[in-house]
Amino acid sequence: MMDKTAPSTLKDLDGLDEISTNPFDDDKLKEECGVFGIFANDDAAAHTVLGLHALQHRGQEAAGIVTYDGKQFHTQKRMGHVADNFNSQPMIESLPGRNAIGHVRYSTTGGSALRNVQPLFADLSSGGFAVAHNGNLTNAWALRKVLVDKGAIFQSTMDSEVLIHLIATSTYLSLADRVIDALRRIEGAYSVVALTQDSLVGARDPLGVRPLVLGQLADGCYIFASETCALDIIGAEYIRDVEPGEIITITKDGLKSDKPFNKVKARPCIFEHVYFSRPDSVTDGKSVYTVRKDIGKELAKESSVDAEVVIPVPDSGTPAAIGFAQEAGIPFELGIIRNHYVGRTFIEPSDQIRNLGVKLKHNANQCEIKGKRVILVDDSIVRGTTSIKIVDMMRQAGASEVHMRIASPPTTNSCFYGVDTPEKDKLLASRMDVEAMADHIGADSLAFISIDGLYRAVGEDSRDNDTPQYCDACFTGDYPTKLTDQELGEDDRQYSFLTD
Ligand code: SF4
Repeated sequence: MMDKTAPSTLKDLDGLDEISTNPFDDDKLKEECGVFGIFANDDAAAHTVLGLHALQHRGQEAAGIVTYDGKQFHTQKRMGHVADNFNSQPMIESLPGRNAIGHVRYSTTGGSALRNVQPLFADLSSGGFAVAHNGNLTNAWALRKVLVDKGAIFQSTMDSEVLIHLIATSTYLSLADRVIDALRRIEGAYSVVALTQDSLVGARDPLGVRPLVLGQLADGCYIFASETCALDIIGAEYIRDVEPGEIITITKDGLKSDKPFNKVKARPCIFEHVYFSRPDSVTDGKSVYTVRKDIGKELAKESSVDAEVVIPVPDSGTPAAIGFAQEAGIPFELGIIRNHYVGRTFIEPSDQIRNLGVKLKHNANQCEIKGKRVILVDDSIVRGTTSIKIVDMMRQAGASEVHMRIASPPTTNSCFYGVDTPEKDKLLASRMDVEAMADHIGADSLAFISIDGLYRAVGEDSRDNDTPQYCDACFTGDYPTKLTDQELGEDDRQYSFLTD
């Protein structure tokens, strides 16, 4: 698993130069958000801080928490990491109440200003309502245009605000029906936690693209979280996944489940298994770590090659590399060693120093590489910039051959479901075939796991091409929802003169 908590750039204090300190993570798809919610707990804010800390890998740009104390809502939002901002007793005391929701964010829709940090809060006719959202609505701009034309005034550029306006303007009487009415009108991917004056709500889109799990503490209080690792950190038990299309409402009377949408076959994001989720989480009922090892085993069955050593690209390639080595019967070694203590430093602005940037965080472990045929295992190739550096690092360390093996199929398409992906034409695999990619990154050979191999690793016989079991659109281009905003184009999107 990658450490996305480390700073991605070093900036010299005089503004002399900027250099990547996390070069192996720069060229990855970025997960967008993590959500957490807890109901009827004396330490609601503190538990939410811990839960968000466990979900930090899902978004490092900003974090926010909303609590309700029985009389009023309280909120704190900060740019930066959870541990850097929600780390003091006064901060926890500023968030009183037994009910809370929280959010960590990597911006997808909307810019990076504090006004775009979730949870969002609104005073509805039914009372206060706070919402935090993981995912991306694919018709948010189309809906926003309709709402603005009717007089709605938006405070942020987030698609989540569309949801609040839809709830506020729904003609249904009860809040529950208004929420259902609003969710029926949106397209795309969402896992939502919401806090009202008397309830905590967790909802997942009908396809279940983004994850959301339900947990419980020993005293009976319920928790929603994007991943089970956020339950583990507070000692809560994993009960089950919130089902695709399910809305769970927690009140003082207990838990109520509604499934108001037409049933469709679920298509959770298969990339959660490859990269996004923490390896100690359970996603779709499966251990992420075990699935990643199985991906490595399938990859070895499909494309092993004569070599002396299997080396993971740290950290996200590690479980797949272990599986690969076990299946291929080739020794697994840590051939790239990571420095965990990279922080701010002074950098001279010369090309020579800039090119050394990769070594600030990672260094080749020569004794395991020199004179050997090396198999490098990574989780994905996005632009290919990192792969070039790693292959070169192996050659500089004396590898006689470098064979790159990738634990996902070629990433050929952008994601519109809440994952930060480059434009399609920036994706290396959309521009080149595998042979050309191998040449481009300087590897002796390159192979990706097949789409059916990936499906076997997650426990399926193969991909069902008529009704696929997962969203795999970034590999196949087979998007499971309409992409209304994409069809709309970019022209109509300036609704605000505020800049981020
Ligand atoms: S397009 Fe890819 S990253 Fe996006 S939801 Fe689908 S599988 Fe996940």
